[in-house]
Amino acid sequence: MDLNAFERKVRSDGVRFVRFLYCDPGGIIRGKAVHIDKLVERIRGGIGLTVAMPAMNMLDQLQPVEGLGPVGEIRLVPDLESYASLPYAPNSAAMMANMVTLGREPWGACPRGFLERMIARARQAGVTIQAAFEPEWTLAQRKDDGSHIPADESLCFSTVGWETSVELIDDIVAALEAQGIPVEQFYPELGHGQQELSIRHAAALRAADNHIRYRDTVRAVARQHGFVASLAPKPFADQAGNGCHIHLSAWDLGGERNLMASGTKPNELSEFGRHWIAGVLKHLPGLVALTASSYNSYRRLKPRMWSSAFRCWGLDNREASVRIASVLWDEARPSLNMELKPSDNSNNPYLALGGVIAAGLDGVAKKLDPGDPMTVDPGSLSESDRSRLGIHRLPESLAAAVDELERDEMLMEALGDLLGRTFTVVKRSEAAAFGAEDQAFELAHHFYKF
Ligand code: GLU
Ligand code: MG
Repeated sequence: MDLNAFERKVRSDGVRFVRFLYCDPGGIIRGKAVHIDKLVERIRGGIGLTVAMPAMNMLDQLQPVEGLGPVGEIRLVPDLESYASLPYAPNSAAMMANMVTLGREPWGACPRGFLERMIARARQAGVTIQAAFEPEWTLAQRKDDGSHIPADESLCFSTVGWETSVELIDDIVAALEAQGIPVEQFYPELGHGQQELSIRHAAALRAADNHIRYRDTVRAVARQHGFVASLAPKPFADQAGNGCHIHLSAWDLGGERNLMASGTKPNELSEFGRHWIAGVLKHLPGLVALTASSYNSYRRLKPRMWSSAFRCWGLDNREASVRIASVLWDEARPSLNMELKPSDNSNNPYLALGGVIAAGLDGVAKKLDPGDPMTVDPGSLSESDRSRLGIHRLPESLAAAVDELERDEMLMEALGDLLGRTFTVVKRSEAAAFGAEDQAFELAHHFYKF
């Protein structure tokens, strides 16, 4: 791309600072900004970052990870395709950045690089991925003592909820659209103050980039309206959890044919689709470390919360961890997709989606079979019925999920040595830090991080 023409375009947007953003392995969005006068140089040469940063946990406690000490630098190199000016921040724009070594190689600890590798792995198998993150979040008000209360007591899908949030949602949608992110649906969700505003699916890398922008946009615009938007999995212990289900479909390389849908019965899973979800289910115990990756995530993953607590799949089954939703009447074949429920906004979307792709591809390569769909609430079955059917509880804590991830050779190999070690060390440190404190500490420290 002609960088001078790019700079002129950025100037014409009235931009003074361009943020180079990344999401760290722990799920926190961080970045550095360059002034417009130095933009071209920093696009060419990146912005320097200490190699230690990915070893920072969500309490900004630096963890000992070999190779991520105080000595050494990498560069944040932006993806120009991801440029957008930020409607909620004066004279500001953002681009998603990759972590690149001084030798100009992709760096092993880069989460966005991991998703790119999994997209390439899929292409090699003749597959392209479309995905969407389906975020729920809680609108709250901050009290003088620093605590938070839900912004309303609206019931599920109740029009009362619109009274609280209509101006805010309108502004958020305008801000998303200005960044090229099309919105799909909105409704006040089940919990007090809970909102669900979904965005359209996109190619995998763009879908993850969009979700980063979405998180930043929702938080910032809510703040401008005097609210606090919490994207934590369970910001209030007695209210519905905030999911961020991942929807995914796999297509041929031309993007013409949805491989998940049967050729003869467009509303049914193909053999490919069955293998894919079998792979996801096989790796799910370790995969949830990547998709539900905060300590607070496991307060949400409980039976009878529609968030899924058991490893199984089902058709329109809201308690199944992998749900195949009934297809759209007018777009049967293209709309067939899998929904992964044990996923929330505290994950790193590049790691979460990359992990799902790796697991699905493994199922296809090994021609795994997912068995019969679960037709009832798995939580309503007796323990012995569940074990007869091979249905197991998902990990009940972050520490247990990280143990499972470490046991999962395929996922650890896909992450690669440096990213795998960094992620597990950081997450273990979070498990230990929150495990040593009480519920109030956990809720307060997750409330406004994602
Ligand atoms: N709030 C639920 C969750 O934690 C999801 C509810 C729904 O099915 O939309 O995942
Ligand atoms: Mg929902």
